[in-house]
Order: sequence, then C-alpha cells, then structure tokens
Amino acid sequence: MHHLYLHVPFCARRCSYCDFAIAVRRRVPAEAYVESIKEELRLVGQGIGPLETIYFGGGTPSLLPPEAIADLLVTLSPYASSPTPSFPTPSGSVEVTLEANPDDVTPASAAAWRRAGVNRVSLGAQSFDEAVLRWMHRTHDAASISGAVQSLREAGIDNISLDLIFALPEELQRDWSRDLEMALALLPSHLSLYGLTVEPRTPLARWVSRGATAPAPDDRYADEYLLAHERLAAAGYHFYEVSNAARPGFESRHNAAYWTGRPYLGLGPSAHSFDGGTRRWNLSAWEAYHRAVSEGRSPIESEELLSAEQRDLEALYLGLRTSAGINTARPVLARPGPSFTACLDNGWLIEDGSRLRCSPEGWLRLDSLVAALTGGAPAL
Ligand code: SF4
Repeated sequence: MHHLYLHVPFCARRCSYCDFAIAVRRRVPAEAYVESIKEELRLVGQGIGPLETIYFGGGTPSLLPPEAIADLLVTLSPYASSPTPSFPTPSGSVEVTLEANPDDVTPASAAAWRRAGVNRVSLGAQSFDEAVLRWMHRTHDAASISGAVQSLREAGIDNISLDLIFALPEELQRDWSRDLEMALALLPSHLSLYGLTVEPRTPLARWVSRGATAPAPDDRYADEYLLAHERLAAAGYHFYEVSNAARPGFESRHNAAYWTGRPYLGLGPSAHSFDGGTRRWNLSAWEAYHRAVSEGRSPIESEELLSAEQRDLEALYLGLRTSAGINTARPVLARPGPSFTACLDNGWLIEDGSRLRCSPEGWLRLDSLVAALTGGAPAL
C-alpha cells in the first residue's frame, strides 16, 4: 500500500454547496484527532508502505495547527519511501499534499508546513469574485488567494494547485473568463476545475427548492468547461484528467493512484480504502469515529468486495476520466453497440492505436459514453 489519505473533517463553517462529511468546529480538537489517527494506524497499519504519496484532505486540513501535521508526518516517516526524519524535497520520492483554505496560509504556517515535510498545497480558491465567495459561504476573500500563493512560495512550496468552481447560477453574473485569467496569473503548477452540482441536504439545494436560485443550464456548463480547456492549453497546461490540468511534471501522483486502480489506505472519519479487491469506508461522523478508535474498535463502517465485472467497469470509467484513456482490448468493450460508432463519429471518443480516450467534448458526457461502450446505451 503506497498511497495514504488522511481525512481531516473539520471546517469553520459549511460552504453553501458542500455535502462532504465534515464537522463544523470553532475550535478544532487537534489533539484528539492526532491521537485517533495514530490509534487507527496501530489498528490497520500493518502492510503499509513504502509510502509514495500522503494526502491531507478534508474538510479543511489547514485548520489543524502545523504542529499536529508535523506530529502526524513524524509518525508516518517510518513508512515513507524516502529516508527519515522528514519528506524533504518537492520533487522527492514522497508527495505530501495538504488541502488548505487561503485564509489559513500565513508566512508562519507555510514555513511550518514546509518544515514538517509538506511539499504540495491544494488551495480552495474557487473564485476571485468577492460576491461569489460570500454566496459560497467561503471564509476567505479574493486578496487572500494571491497572499497565500506568495507565502507558500516564500516558504519553499512551489507545487501549488488551485481549485476553481464553474457553472454558477446565472444571477451571480460570475465572469468565468476573468477568474481563469486571475488564476493563471498566479502561475500555479496545477488546477482542479469542478462544475457546481446541487447536492441534496445542502444550503444550495434548499435555495433551489424554494426557487431562490437555479443551476446553470447545460450549455453554459459546457461553454465554461471548454473555455477552460482552451485557456489552459494556451497557457501550457495539459488536462490529464476530466477535472484536472497541470504543467508537465506536476500531475497529482496521489490522485493518479485512484484513477489507475492502485490500492490505497484512508485514515480518519469517512475515509475510504481499497486493497485491490475490497473497498472499505470508515464511520463518517467525527464523534462516532473518535469513540470507536478510542475504545480500540475498528472504525470501518462497511465494505464491499468488487466482482471481476465491477472492477472492469470501474477501470473503464476511471481510465476514460484520464487523458491516457483505456486499452481497446478490454473485455468489457467486447460488445459495443451502435452508439459507440456515433461517439467516434462525433469526435467524443478518439481511437489512437490501441488506446481509446475522450476529447473534452467527450468528457462532458462521460456517463453516456461509458454506457455506449458497454453496449447498453440509449441513443446519444
Ligand atoms: S471548506 Fe471544503 S469541505 Fe469545508 S465546507 Fe467548504 S467545501 Fe466543504
């Protein structure tokens, strides 16, 4: 097991669109969290390592005090593929990513993260428009994004990713083109772009259900997605996955492990693990998770054993998410129906020797393409 995910569930408040398993806390119970992770590691940690990637995701991992992150990385250092005592180089053998909110990044926190071994930071920028950030219930303002990037660079963390959300409701009059330019001006090594979706039981879902707002129409979703492809390609970025673009050499090694079906271990509430055949996931509520590990019980809530057919379908879907695509010899492609030919004719799928991959237009209709490829699709 070479890839480790740590879920840090705490957030200062809930963003309007977010349905993640989080715990909103004014004060983060950092000590209890660190002890829980160490205890879970004792329970399930046999057989892990040498670690190639460590990913602190959330939630808002940057709400943890830097000492807590350092404590966890010291604990993990015996499992790392590079020598202890830390994870020293940005291009070194262990990629250590921390998700951060821009307003948690200060010169002091950035320097402490770097000392602890963090060498990649994923910033939840989302937009450079103040009204949009307020609507999203984000805790940061636009100015703090560039301030965060500067602090990280000064601390020696140059591998910086920015998250942006597109396809926002019409009434916000968000200028997507301007946001892309503002993000590119900061010269991040990586960008993750997500279309807004209305998830049940979120503030956004409530606003939609009472008619206060409406999701962006499909054609604007497509226009904004394709505009991002155009702008980012012109700036030297390569979309290596449906939602992720990077400068050459800065692709996320951790996320690539998920997309290529490699095993990974997840620690923390709601974290998922995969051993190549079985997927397991932890109790999602922080209190329930904390209680279980404190009592020496497994925090696993449930698991599913994937059949060979499920694994094949999953590999097909995950492969098509990436720019590498899939091998056309995959057994699941044995019976592609007439919709498959239509996908090729429309340029949504590109056949390249023994590989089959999606064009940007194909990525916009990925679910339909997977259905078409497995022979059971309705006409597209
Ligand atoms: S910071 Fe991230 S995890 Fe926390 S509420 Fe906002 S979107 Fe959700």
